[in-house]
Amino acid sequence: MMGAAGVITSPDDAALAELCGALSALAEPLDASGDWPAEQLRLCGQYGVYQWFADAAWGGQAWDQQSVLRGYLALSAACLTTTFVLTQRDGACRRIESSSNEELRRRLLAGLTRGELFATVGISHLTTSRRHLTTPVLRARRAAGGFVLEGFSPWVTGADHADYVVVGATLMRGSEPTTQQLLAAVPTNLPGVRCGEPAKLVGLSASHTGPFHLDNVLVGDEWIVAGPVENVMSSGAGAGTGGLGTSTLALGLGRAALAFLAHEADQRPELAGPREALAAELAATTDDLFSAVRGQPACSTDELRQRANSLVLRATQAALGAAKGAGYVAGHPAGRWCREALFFLVWSCPQGVLAANLCELAGILE
Ligand SMILES: Cc1cc2nc3c(=O)[nH]c(=O)nc-3n(C[C@H](O)[C@H](O)[C@H](O)COP(=O)(O)OP(=O)(O)OC[C@H]3O[C@@H](n4cnc5c(N)ncnc54)[C@H](O)[C@@H]3O)c2cc1C
Repeated sequence: MMGAAGVITSPDDAALAELCGALSALAEPLDASGDWPAEQLRLCGQYGVYQWFADAAWGGQAWDQQSVLRGYLALSAACLTTTFVLTQRDGACRRIESSSNEELRRRLLAGLTRGELFATVGISHLTTSRRHLTTPVLRARRAAGGFVLEGFSPWVTGADHADYVVVGATLMRGSEPTTQQLLAAVPTNLPGVRCGEPAKLVGLSASHTGPFHLDNVLVGDEWIVAGPVENVMSSGAGAGTGGLGTSTLALGLGRAALAFLAHEADQRPELAGPREALAAELAATTDDLFSAVRGQPACSTDELRQRANSLVLRATQAALGAAKGAGYVAGHPAGRWCREALFFLVWSCPQGVLAANLCELAGILE
């Protein structure tokens, strides 16, 4: 079933497969150019993808979490970069939607849902990045009418294309950090805001991820999403670290690699064993993901993420092995999938998950 004018109304909608076909066809040139996926994001808008995440009050379809993750699973098998950008956009939108700042919600959410505005997040320095440093990389001080933000957010996807970046900052008292943090939706046209050059990455360079600098930027109270409060990341909804969304994208990429392996195995009986074993593992891990979404977890969220990481690394390398030398030539998807799978070792990866993945790589049984 397809919604009006190609708008996707459920993860079973034929229009989702149509969108995935278009994204998949663009994935290879996107990787080669490293250009921002503007056309892909336009297509997502045309197919109503931005409506999945928002409430009807803002023009959204308010999909439940299971449907959103089924959507992400399909999209990430087609184009990981575009889907990753969507998750960062979704993270910003959810933070804004769960804010008690009604004026901010009214100002931004309808435009975000229509795809007229683009927002992203710079919050990892409160969770998984730069945590060993004594001075917070992004600091906030109270000022008349708001807060002055000073420093930078080290990793912001699509900052150079964003209208708003939802950043986390630590409240300072004098030169000392306090335990209080805030989130602000910073308009990228404020004086003192500066996007660093996007990093050239091992994969996903087209996500245009780079540092986002704030040089004494006065951010008015009207832009505050949450806080100052302790552990601002655990208040409200949004992109938690190591959450089910990150595992979903890993499984989506694993699914693409396995589809390739299965296709090769149809003509090459020696590939049947690995195909069957990996397919069974993918099915079991996907089942556990959706059990967790339904509130009946078979394992912890961290364990699920660790299994998804392990699977995507092995499945993509199995696809490369099956593709042989041809897969090692730039432009073959198997090589790209291997590079993209490495991303899951570093993206929003909680310490426990990283430790478990490293033990597996080291051949140490936990
Ligand atoms: C492609 C990409 C896109 C991303 N997009 C976003 C985004 O849109 N928004 C967002 O908020 N985040 C984003 N992230 C951040 C991501 O979720 C992680 O937070 C990030 O990958 C953590 O890596 P780091 O190098 O900052 O970690 P760090 O912990 O800061 O490590 C950096 C370096 O510090 C040293 N180090 C680390 N720990 C210690 C220690 N305990 N003692 C001494 N030295 C140490 C090591 O040499 C290490 O290489 C993105 C990351 C990537 C790679």
